[in-house]
Amino acid sequence: MSNPNDSVDNVSPVWTHLLDTPLVRGQGAYVWDSTGRRYLDFTSGIGVVNTGHSHPRVVEAVRKQAGLGLHLQANIGFVHEPMLRLIAALKEVVPPELDTFFFSNSGAEAVEAAVKLARQATHRPNIIAFQRSFHGRTVGTMSLTSSKTVYRVGYQPLMAGVFFAPYAYCYRCPKAEANPELYSANCRCDWPLEQVRFLLKSQTAPEETAAILVEPVLGEGGYVVPPPEFLRGLREICDEYDILLIMDEVQSGFGRTGKFFALEHFGVVPDIMVMAKGLASGLPLSGIAARRELMARWKEGSHGGTYGGNVVACAAAEATIRTLQEEHLVENAARLGSKLLARLQEMQKQHPSIGEVRGLGLMVGVEFVVPGGRTPDKDRAKSVQQACRDNDLLLLTCGTEGNIIRWIPPLIINERELDTALDIFERALDNQ
Ligand code: PLP
Repeated sequence: MSNPNDSVDNVSPVWTHLLDTPLVRGQGAYVWDSTGRRYLDFTSGIGVVNTGHSHPRVVEAVRKQAGLGLHLQANIGFVHEPMLRLIAALKEVVPPELDTFFFSNSGAEAVEAAVKLARQATHRPNIIAFQRSFHGRTVGTMSLTSSKTVYRVGYQPLMAGVFFAPYAYCYRCPKAEANPELYSANCRCDWPLEQVRFLLKSQTAPEETAAILVEPVLGEGGYVVPPPEFLRGLREICDEYDILLIMDEVQSGFGRTGKFFALEHFGVVPDIMVMAKGLASGLPLSGIAARRELMARWKEGSHGGTYGGNVVACAAAEATIRTLQEEHLVENAARLGSKLLARLQEMQKQHPSIGEVRGLGLMVGVEFVVPGGRTPDKDRAKSVQQACRDNDLLLLTCGTEGNIIRWIPPLIINERELDTALDIFERALDNQ
């Protein structure tokens, strides 16, 4: 039998975060490496395993479907039954207006699908996206991504027709940074919406703008919750100019924020919703949902892929949605999320290096700054993250400046696991 350790040097250097000791198992909120060391995984595999690692119900659905067929092609004149069952489950949780579904494999592919649909349906070329957003790493989606230059460097020129407006990141709004007394968590200024309107006057005319693409809660770019007025204002601008609103729920969906989808917090329904990650508990599946009339404007055969809507992944996704519903995991995310936020805000009072704590449900960010101001402190975020890792707690950072620690645990965690993680984090803050 081959020895996996003989292959370590043959893994692409692109995976720069390689463990010396590869992971071998995941169960619930934990992962184990090859030495048997157990970690509390508060990364959820970057927001994927909302039902926890290898939830028995999802595993059973995968086992059962694998025995019935691994690949029942969805592009040869049939759809398959697990896809229809998945759609029935999705119809219970997505806004009822978005009644038509298309499936692909990754988040980036689904964003591409949304953009292609928007361009073809409106006959308009341009897309407005937001500074600090992340939508993927394909050529199309990295052109829509501006969370970090690392995703773009060496790949220019990118897809044309993309224009960026500032996200409603109140803590780092230029007015607030220049004059911190102006900033409050309830700040409701129109500046970000004015910037979108300015873009429509100065760079991409409404009649050439197909869509505005937005994350309802900024993920990779810093775990930023915008004021509801921001997303509602975007909806109004879209309605005024017949521009489509695309919401990327890839990271914020499937119970993560304490609602099934983050958009429910804001009372805004987009024209196209993008989903992936938490959809299938780890199997590669993504999709878009839109109104039937809009989806019907997509030319048949003009988009798709061999594996999109794979039958085993669809079975896993149906089981995922049923698990989230029947085990009340969305409610658990809301309940434990409030506790998480409250305890982190208590820690903020003791630690001037914490500039802001913010989030919804179990999607919470802790922004580190140099005490006394708002200068991002990436080193502090890194050292706290490493100290947690040394104590068997896995956390991720995010943000353009890398100075934010994100809390994104599986939604199945219980109070004891949350307390354990918070204790480890607090000790790391005290000792670093
Ligand atoms: N959109 C958002 C909001 C994401 O967070 C991500 C991934 O992190 C993507 C799109 C891209 O998804 P994938 O990595 O599956 O291509």
